[in-house]
Amino acid sequence: MSVRLPVLVVGAGPTGLISAISLLKNGVPVRIIEKRETFHGGIRGSGVTPRTLEVLSLIDVAQDVIDSSTAPLDFSSYEADGHTAKSAPWAEGAGTAQYYAFPEARIVSQAEFEALLRKHLGNLGASVETGKELIGFEQSDEKVMARILDTSTGNEETFLCSFLVGADGAKGRIRRILEIPFVGQTREEDRVLSGNVNVTGLDKEHWHMWGKMTQAAIGLRPMKTGSLFQMQALGHELPASLPTDLEGIRKLFQSISHRDDILIHDVEWVTEWRANIRMCEKFNKERVFLVGDAAHCHSLFGGQGMNSGIQDAMNLSWKLALVYHGRASMELLNTYNEERVPVIAEMLNLSSNIHYLAFGKPAKSALDGALGGEAAAEEKQATNQDVMHRPKVLLQLGVNCRWSPIVLETRADASASGAKDPYGQETARLRAGDRAPNALVTSVHLAATPESTTLHKLFDMHRHIVMVFVPGVNALGRLLKELEDIHDLLDAEAVRVVAILPKGTDHSSSLSRQLSEDVTAGKVQLLVDKDAEVRRVYDLDAVGAAFTYVVVRPDGVIGSFAGDVSGVRKYFEVLKAGGRP
Ligand SMILES: Cc1cc2nc3c(=O)[nH]c(=O)nc-3n(C[C@H](O)[C@H](O)[C@H](O)COP(=O)(O)OP(=O)(O)OC[C@H]3O[C@@H](n4cnc5c(N)ncnc54)[C@H](O)[C@@H]3O)c2cc1C
Repeated sequence: MSVRLPVLVVGAGPTGLISAISLLKNGVPVRIIEKRETFHGGIRGSGVTPRTLEVLSLIDVAQDVIDSSTAPLDFSSYEADGHTAKSAPWAEGAGTAQYYAFPEARIVSQAEFEALLRKHLGNLGASVETGKELIGFEQSDEKVMARILDTSTGNEETFLCSFLVGADGAKGRIRRILEIPFVGQTREEDRVLSGNVNVTGLDKEHWHMWGKMTQAAIGLRPMKTGSLFQMQALGHELPASLPTDLEGIRKLFQSISHRDDILIHDVEWVTEWRANIRMCEKFNKERVFLVGDAAHCHSLFGGQGMNSGIQDAMNLSWKLALVYHGRASMELLNTYNEERVPVIAEMLNLSSNIHYLAFGKPAKSALDGALGGEAAAEEKQATNQDVMHRPKVLLQLGVNCRWSPIVLETRADASASGAKDPYGQETARLRAGDRAPNALVTSVHLAATPESTTLHKLFDMHRHIVMVFVPGVNALGRLLKELEDIHDLLDAEAVRVVAILPKGTDHSSSLSRQLSEDVTAGKVQLLVDKDAEVRRVYDLDAVGAAFTYVVVRPDGVIGSFAGDVSGVRKYFEVLKAGGRP
């Protein structure tokens, strides 16, 4: 690219904000515009999945989300008397198959989440320009010319950018300008009254629900702050005209719950949501990209929407940064589309199945077999618990892109394994294209005492990590020699090499003495696989004499399992060429 123009991000919902933050962290100048004068206050997408938390930790946002959120509370479904409730865990956790820094989803108001993202944006020296609406654009081989309206003055400006990230939501105009079909269905009859309400007389230890979802139900889910609850009412027996004022909402609540000891004393925000389940056939055209709801909208059941948008943003940003900095060709950007479209198609499938249960229609397939599949779902109406139960697959830890042209699997036995299953590879044999697992390790610094840490803490959004499994300290010299073959690729700005020493390696001062000058100069970071967990979760054989290389991408996905250093070279060459060498 001859002139380096900034990237324009359109829309300051979670997807736009995360796109902007991750691009800025990658050294790409960004302008982010939002047509609204004030920010959205709705709780809306309130469940943040473990996989989203992992990707948020790559941009240092995860801890703030943890601090502002609650754990997933048990779900209490009340009997007809309104007082007797059956409580059960709402969502399955990640389990113990490996170390998970975030073993369960967290619950936070989307408005609060967006506010903390804006704070992080501010820390990077940027801010959202409100009252600025994208009204059109044209693109050429070199740039995009965007037309932006100042909604308060009515003035129009032209802005030149290198790329345009369309995070303008489900009603956005960018996909229409691109003439990309938005395929799917609108189900006007499937409605949810959703809002932020303040409530007294109700415990904040449970997510409460009265009535039957398949008829008429109303739920109150506590948020961390004060007396704030997320209200959701649904069911085909709800009145045709749904209330939006305090008095009407109180009446609706009491008619379903029969509880006059619980007082809704304030309605901060309310909306009537109607099911619109659609996705774009493709997510980019040349220099313009669609992310989040702009590319796909879905049932709010399953809590996958906002999470998927965030993962779109993370998938795209590091690739845009490589192209922007001249480290990869434009073709790399097409892999955003190739990697995300199958994942989103499966997300729509999974969340729609829960949607069908909620609205009393037979599921096409049961998510976890708990309902016994289609036949059982037809025989009995789903209970509230059936609908609300979140199986492990929805934690998104198995989401993968094994089919991507830029992932490289060199192990003959692994390359053939696994049909395309975009959401579900967590239990199958790990391979390139999967989420890189986490593990507890010991980090060895010459100047300081060794410290316990995790593998994921080493991952970062602006660098690839080349993990090398070495048989012992004595092999480090040989490793450094081998790395010379790829020294042209090891730009410290973009790639970091981590040598993983086997369990039992002495990381005390005797080790320090054996380390070569180059290691101390920081070219290679040293870790000890203290419980042999890294080898186990990365599915590697016992320590042999040879090195094994695993390349982890900036979005925390395994880019390559490479048997030797030439495999690493091949991975970076394929990446640079965008999968089309
Ligand atoms: C009632 C309700 C409940 C929901 N519950 C859940 C849930 O439980 N779990 C879940 O995961 N998701 C849920 N969602 C969905 C979730 O809110 C969305 O998936 C999420 O907001 C998508 O984020 P986004 O950034 O892609 O788009 P949005 O949040 O829609 O942001 C798009 C932004 O772009 C701006 N914009 C549009 N056009 C322009 C333009 N031309 N120029 C400048 N700015 C523009 C808009 O004003 C908006 O601020 C719910 C949604 C609703 C409405």
